[in-house]
Amino acid sequence: MRTLVTGGAGFIGSHLTEHLLRAGDEVVVLDDLSTGSPSNLAAVANHPGLRLVVGSVCDREVVDRCARGADRVFHAAASVGVLKILEKPLHGLRTNVHGTEVVLDAALRHGAPVLITSTSEVYGKNTRTGLREDDDRVLGSPLKSRWSYAEAKAVAESMTRGYVTEHGLAAVIVRLFNTVGPRQTGRYGMVVPRFVGQALTGRPLTVHGDGRQVRCFCHVLDVVPALVALLDDERAHGDVFNLGGTERVSIGELAERVIAATGSTSDVVHLSYEQAYGEGFEDMRRRVPDSSKALARIGFRPRRDLDDVIADVADHWKTRLEVEHA
Ligand code: UDP
Repeated sequence: MRTLVTGGAGFIGSHLTEHLLRAGDEVVVLDDLSTGSPSNLAAVANHPGLRLVVGSVCDREVVDRCARGADRVFHAAASVGVLKILEKPLHGLRTNVHGTEVVLDAALRHGAPVLITSTSEVYGKNTRTGLREDDDRVLGSPLKSRWSYAEAKAVAESMTRGYVTEHGLAAVIVRLFNTVGPRQTGRYGMVVPRFVGQALTGRPLTVHGDGRQVRCFCHVLDVVPALVALLDDERAHGDVFNLGGTERVSIGELAERVIAATGSTSDVVHLSYEQAYGEGFEDMRRRVPDSSKALARIGFRPRRDLDDVIADVADHWKTRLEVEHA
């Protein structure tokens, strides 16, 4: 099996690439290294089945070359992270809309089934407990740039569905809910690596707002095999699936659990959203998935809980800190 992974040097993409190489695939990784890094692929850097191509998913020629001969494509390249989207909304829109179209087009031309990674962000402020794939999107004003990520990803989804209905492309869409684990960086806003980094270095943990907003975190190692199973199941093609964890936690409680798990002496401080992200920022009070469709289709059932997530992220950053201070 020859597989193309766009964004394969990123957080999720690198775990996926390792998984595919272990399964015996030849893997072409296309990554522009904007937020990804070759260090994410350090464990497989010398693997004979791996080829890393540095380039953009917006570059038709490069994508076409990478897709040539591919049996399947995982499109995991994206501009992600609240801070990144606020800082560079245009880049996010272009990468997430145009880049997806380029990848869909190449997959069609080369006859390769493709998995498109989308996001729970598309549900916006819909706080229903147990969001289902056909639930409404509740978005704030387009003047609030946070929503441009949800908009771009939703357009990418609609475009994917267009390729399915108009061209018969074999494509599956997956909406990821707060996927976390080793290698995710806190630089672009993600809360778990931020809290773990703050706890390990004795800095206060920065809880935004009242800390009562709720999320369900899902370990990347539970997500990765599900991505493969969905793309490899023809019955999933043309459809969209939520993938998320089951354990609900408030961000305030998450901070306490990170402090306890790491034995940290850090305090917790509360920052207003304005302090954290600037004026006019909107957050979701609650984001809880219903992943029963993926359970029914491929038996998706996350095995790792939040304690496993925190422990694995802490182990990863401890090693990094040791290396940096050596
Ligand atoms: N958050 C926080 N402190 C931080 C970073 C994030 O309290 O240092 C909050 C953020 O405002 C949101 C939640 O943690 O309510 C999850 O944020 P993340 O960016 O990880 O994912 P999101 O669910 O917003 O996509």
